[in-house]
Amino acid sequence: MSETLFIADLHLTPSDPRLMERGLTFLSGRARSAESLYILGDLFEVWIGDDDQTSGYQPVIAALQQLTRQGVAVFLMVGNRDFLLGTTFCEISGCQLLTDPTVIDLYGIPTLLTHGDQLCTADVAYQTFRQQVRQADWQKQFLALPLAHRRLLAQQARAQSQVYTQTMTLDPIPTEAVIAWLKFYGVYRLIHGHIHRPGCHELNLNEQIATRYVVGDWQQEDIVILRSTIEGCQLLSYHALSSSEHLL
Ligand code: MN
Repeated sequence: MSETLFIADLHLTPSDPRLMERGLTFLSGRARSAESLYILGDLFEVWIGDDDQTSGYQPVIAALQQLTRQGVAVFLMVGNRDFLLGTTFCEISGCQLLTDPTVIDLYGIPTLLTHGDQLCTADVAYQTFRQQVRQADWQKQFLALPLAHRRLLAQQARAQSQVYTQTMTLDPIPTEAVIAWLKFYGVYRLIHGHIHRPGCHELNLNEQIATRYVVGDWQQEDIVILRSTIEGCQLLSYHALSSSEHLL
């Protein structure tokens, strides 16, 4: 049966070889049986521009290339960590860049996809920062800086974000924000990542049940991913080491 897979928050970095291995195992193994793969943001822990030739990223690019050449459609949304992933990366890897948010037709059901950071509406400071760094002018200026300078700025931003993550409340996404988005886009299904708290939440919307799926991060060998077929969506626990999986 044809299936579509959703993952997010791999946070791949050459400085964590075990994590890299986990991601590569998935891309060169499990992902091959899918019709489409959606990477909903933060594939990389940090991305300072497509011109960064740090060799540690090459295996990931090669695995994506192989996957897309084998006929798997790979859709990529940027996250708050790798929002500078651009068209050059996509051309080389064969991934198709998605704007955030995007509504797709998922086996007949309109489904809203987002990374998830925009839904953390209570974090006003972050939303202000986000608005700034997503502006074309800001990005043009940043990308014009020497790589070493960009790397330094990215490290500083990362340190700040880690402090924030440690103080994050249980679920930083208010239900009202989810409802507002579902209403605005006229859909009853949302898939996102970012908060590293996988799960399936049902909400009442216009006297119907709306579903919010959250996929997990890749810090452990057991990873919560989402599988979708004509029969619906299911969260799976995928075990990277053994490439095995079971329904959640
Ligand atoms: Mn994120």
